[in-house]
Amino acid sequence: MDHIVYLVRARIQAVALLCMLAFASLFSVDSLAANSIDGIRVWPAPENTRIVFDVKNKPDYKYFTLSNPDRLVIDFTDTKNSVPLNNLAANDPRVKLFRSSSSKEKTRLVLELSQSYQLTVFPLAPAGQYGNRLVIDLYDKNRSPKVVATPKENIGDIIIGIDAGHGGEDPGSIGSKGTYEKKVTLAIAKKLQKVINEEKGMKAVLIRSGDYYVDLNRRTSLARDKNVHFLVSIHADAFHTPGPSGASVWVVTQSRAESELSRWLVNREKKSELLGGGGGVIKTTADSNLALTLADMSKEHSLGVSFGVANNVIKELRKITKMHKSTPQNGNFAVLKSSDIPSILVETGFISNHAEEKNLTWSKHQQRLADAIHQGIKSHFLAHPLTGSYFASIGYKKHKVRSGESLSVLAERYNISMSKLKSINNLKTNSIRIGQTLKIPRTG
Ligand SMILES: [Zn+2]
Repeated sequence: MDHIVYLVRARIQAVALLCMLAFASLFSVDSLAANSIDGIRVWPAPENTRIVFDVKNKPDYKYFTLSNPDRLVIDFTDTKNSVPLNNLAANDPRVKLFRSSSSKEKTRLVLELSQSYQLTVFPLAPAGQYGNRLVIDLYDKNRSPKVVATPKENIGDIIIGIDAGHGGEDPGSIGSKGTYEKKVTLAIAKKLQKVINEEKGMKAVLIRSGDYYVDLNRRTSLARDKNVHFLVSIHADAFHTPGPSGASVWVVTQSRAESELSRWLVNREKKSELLGGGGGVIKTTADSNLALTLADMSKEHSLGVSFGVANNVIKELRKITKMHKSTPQNGNFAVLKSSDIPSILVETGFISNHAEEKNLTWSKHQQRLADAIHQGIKSHFLAHPLTGSYFASIGYKKHKVRSGESLSVLAERYNISMSKLKSINNLKTNSIRIGQTLKIPRTG
């Protein structure tokens, strides 16, 4: 008995000693630190890597680079680091290794780099689910691809830019079962890319192809760099109550949002910049008046195309999902605003609605949505092919009206509705004249 008591007592003493040591270390060096690094995230993207530090308070930091080998050194003043660094760089092509050293005054983090990069470092104030952050972007130095001018007479494929909303630091809306909008949008975007690429005469490029954030301005400049003819931005809706459901299609306008819902949606998309970390971009969104003054004919033309596609996409979407709005909605979305490229924003459903949240994570439903968007875009560009595009050569055959042929006779012969035949040929009435050339859509 005595022996056991002694052992127990010894153990208690040992534990007490350990506790005291731990306690002492807690209150010696560390307790003096005013700030702490509580999280580190690494987001590799095709043209940059973003590294985000969660810090308890506004970060006080200095940084510099070293070469041979290339390194980035960041000193966080009066800060302790509690994040393990071992595996942070495992999946990143630009950072080879994170290491740190701490002293009373600071934590020094050293990032060993694969080469030298163009560097942006900026702090972000708390936004949404995030507290203070310090953001580091390592950009590839050759990241701006030269715009290849394509001759207007022969554009060949219609290039569709697909912008999966949100990504990386910016999860978008989060459903009650934990579904992230950024995941849903990327899944639909990839399915849409596949069906479009299977379509002769169309080609799709993804503006974002992985889980990383792309500045909203960068999204449109990427679309421009890739010679995109039409841009579709994929999102999933959310509202602060679970009631609203259904899909909607948005076209950008400069007018102020009218309904509470559209204000809510537009503000929510603006929040992306705060979450995703747009850096200097945030300021420029206040310049919508300037953008409006600079608006030109091409903008009006692009608005026409945008509405045309929007209507066709709605027509297809309503076959497979409930519509929240059955006509194109106007919104002042940053991702579409600065663009002279015709574009729509598709809200594929409400992630805040329980049934739709489930549907949106369902691969088969995502495929249906992708198919509907593809069909909508295709039918617009078949009916209104871009000059020099493949669709212009196959979209229509020509028919010269002969004696005895009426619109209804031709509609029946070519298996097309009267109204479709009229709209394709911009006919106001049912009368046609001999010798007139009509456009007849090819089937398939
Ligand atoms: Zn969104």
